[in-house]
Amino acid sequence: MTGARVQLIGLTKQYGTGDPAVDHVDLDIRPGEFITLLGPSGSGKTTTLNMIVGFTDPTSGRIELNGNDISRTPAHKRNFGMVFQNYALFPHLTVAQNVAFPLRERKVAAAETDKLVREALDLVDLGGMGHRRPHELSGGQQQRVALARAVVFSPNLLLLDEPLSALDRKLRQSLQREIKRLHDELGLTFVFVTHDQDEAMTLSDRIAIFDQGRIVAVGTPTELYHRPNTTFVARFLGESNVFAGRYLAASDVYEWHDRKWAVSPGGGGEGQALIVRPERLGVALDETSVPAGSNVAPAAVTDVSFYGTYYRIELAFADDSVGCAVLPVGAPAEISPGARVVAHWRPEDQVLVSE
Ligand code: ADP
Ligand code: MG
Repeated sequence: MTGARVQLIGLTKQYGTGDPAVDHVDLDIRPGEFITLLGPSGSGKTTTLNMIVGFTDPTSGRIELNGNDISRTPAHKRNFGMVFQNYALFPHLTVAQNVAFPLRERKVAAAETDKLVREALDLVDLGGMGHRRPHELSGGQQQRVALARAVVFSPNLLLLDEPLSALDRKLRQSLQREIKRLHDELGLTFVFVTHDQDEAMTLSDRIAIFDQGRIVAVGTPTELYHRPNTTFVARFLGESNVFAGRYLAASDVYEWHDRKWAVSPGGGGEGQALIVRPERLGVALDETSVPAGSNVAPAAVTDVSFYGTYYRIELAFADDSVGCAVLPVGAPAEISPGARVVAHWRPEDQVLVSE
């Protein structure tokens, strides 16, 4: 199998008269990549997937597969595999018959079908389970059957809509690894939908972040984590300290509350918010013990929790906003709820965003 390139161009879906479910989405899905559509519930992820696979017609815009417009191509002719949250297996068919289903639809000969089904079941570690019925399998095994069924006919593209959301945490993690391995082995383009940021971060080559029917950011997990372009993206992917202030171009400083902070070279622009990730924030007992060149924000400690490998310090800043710092083991005992502290960070560890 080779990975397909899929381009979404101005893709829009309007139900009724309200705001569009999907609103002028542009996305260039690269051959063989693992791309995740991440966003809150109702942000348009499933509608986008359903338009790609051909279950839903776009209101406007188009979809191209390897440069050819497939917007009006019926779903069964697109040759895309799809995996759903609820497995969608046929309960009265055996595992092998479920996996064989797309091959029967394609009128593949019996001997070839047997061979492909066996290979697909081996691929998801279910060799020998072919005679069982879905209800005789665990949730994780059922989802493996759904995966086997989705790849057995050598699709151009595999689409997965929250495939792990119904599983408990441990099973979820093991299936995440399985899906990642499947992607690496098959070399197929994967479009994965989730609302779980950790899942998106660990699995994806790139993430497209959805908000209200639009893509508001696209990038690798590290790009989006370290260089979020808006406070929405920063808050949605990981945790953030968001300081609402303004960038003063004339003096090249960021003004927050009664403070003026240094801006790293090229870090200015239309800054309306300054973002610092929790692991980049230090916590000191007074300003004199802060490393030279740091930006500082006075805060009160509201909570301290111990997580084995780190401490998490909840903070209330001088402007009444809240945030947190993550400290390695050995936080001083004086950093306890009620303590007055100074949060500090290096200017190069902050990101200025315009909204
Ligand atoms: P997500 O998968 O991100 O949770 P959806 O794509 O399912 O979001 O939904 C996006 C928006 O479109 C929501 O406001 C939802 O209510 C609406 N929507 C989805 N499907 C339909 C439909 N068949 N008819 C009307 N509205 C719909
Ligand atoms: Mg959905």
